[in-house]
Amino acid sequence: MSNPAEMLSMLAQHGIMIGHIPGGMPDLVALDIAAALGMAHDQPGAAMLLAKYTMDGYAAHAFGEHWKLLVDRRAYVERWGNDNRTRSLAEYSYAEWLDSQKCRTCKGVGSQMTPEGKVGKCGSCDGTGLRKIGDRPVARALGMSNEGYRKSPWSSRIGWCRSELVRRELSALLEFSRHLTGRQ
Ligand SMILES: [Zn+2]
Repeated sequence: MSNPAEMLSMLAQHGIMIGHIPGGMPDLVALDIAAALGMAHDQPGAAMLLAKYTMDGYAAHAFGEHWKLLVDRRAYVERWGNDNRTRSLAEYSYAEWLDSQKCRTCKGVGSQMTPEGKVGKCGSCDGTGLRKIGDRPVARALGMSNEGYRKSPWSSRIGWCRSELVRRELSALLEFSRHLTGRQ
């Protein structure tokens, strides 16, 4: 996702409706996002959006550090017990999220036409609109064999990382959309 129009359509896919956008959507560019988030630039949610949608290197670093702390806390509470692997998982999941690519089947929409001509959930991505990533790159990042990784608890820990990042992103997007429309 590289522009606000796509961002807003993603919000709509998740049932979040944006009202009137001042200035009209086509005029919005990455700089507008940065400006809209300017007041809260040091907030993790703002850094997260700036990192992903405006390629802001400073924000990418700032949220990356914040994310490592969140993963560390989770690892501590759940006794993951391998600091190096925890660190690798935090770095890998963050890079994967930053780089998330659209599903090639539905082109990021999350739905597709069924043979009967109805709109149905995309089977390739389960309606997320994102390209599914297999075990291989995660196992490699953690320095494990594919087999060893699949049987280990790390394969569910990446699941936590992914859903936590998406949850935080949606919450930040919602906050951003409120900011844009002046609603509270
Ligand atoms: Zn899809």
